[in-house]
Amino acid sequence: EPQARWSAVDAYLTDLLAPADDALTAALAASDEAGLPQIAVAPNQGKLLHLLARVQGARTILEIGTLGGYSSIWLARALPADGRLISLEYDPAHAEVARLNLARAGLGAVAEVRTGAALDTLPKLEAEGAGPFDLVFVDADKKNNPRYVEWALRLTRPGSVIVVDNVVRGGTVLDEEAADEATRGTRAMFDLVARDPRLDATAFQTVGVKGHDGMLVARVVS
Ligand code: SAM
Repeated sequence: EPQARWSAVDAYLTDLLAPADDALTAALAASDEAGLPQIAVAPNQGKLLHLLARVQGARTILEIGTLGGYSSIWLARALPADGRLISLEYDPAHAEVARLNLARAGLGAVAEVRTGAALDTLPKLEAEGAGPFDLVFVDADKKNNPRYVEWALRLTRPGSVIVVDNVVRGGTVLDEEAADEATRGTRAMFDLVARDPRLDATAFQTVGVKGHDGMLVARVVS
């Protein structure tokens, strides 16, 4: 069964290269206890986000879709002491769990969770003059992915990195007639990224504990 093998390989890689520590373990435990869905990135994917932020030398990070703050912890740990991560979350209960998890991880001073629909909180961020962000991680309601990438472009600078999660969706991304909004939103996001000369991107498929999925990584060119 391929899923069992993918999960076993993920466990092997994660143990070696992205082992859990107390704060990460506690974040997942608190998320489970609060009844949050188990849809955080895998540990080795969290580590990829962390490494991308480090390689990028990110001082400011925007995350769209916080859940319990698991990916936020990986990302915020890449920041310097005076860095800043802002994470946007629709569900107040998720946001509250994430704030506690970030505080427990010692990241309360660099990481902030803002509650509300991202399409409402993004214009507020812009009005405040927040950004430009060095890295944006898009991982919220997938139907709005094209709009989130448009917002990411407004809130970044040439050289910024934009990452979008869950872009393969077990291969359903191929379905031109997809009825589900997540697939439609993801396809519309791909069309936008492929056509926009301000972005240089790739996407890759992944298998692992999260099944068959993928990520898009883009660099803002201009
Ligand atoms: N990035 C998280 C991680 O890996 O630990 C996982 C995020 S989860 C896949 C998606 C989150 O987006 C959920 O917590 C959901 O409540 C939130 N969400 C859904 N619609 C949203 C919206 N319109 N604005 C902001 N967040 C939204």
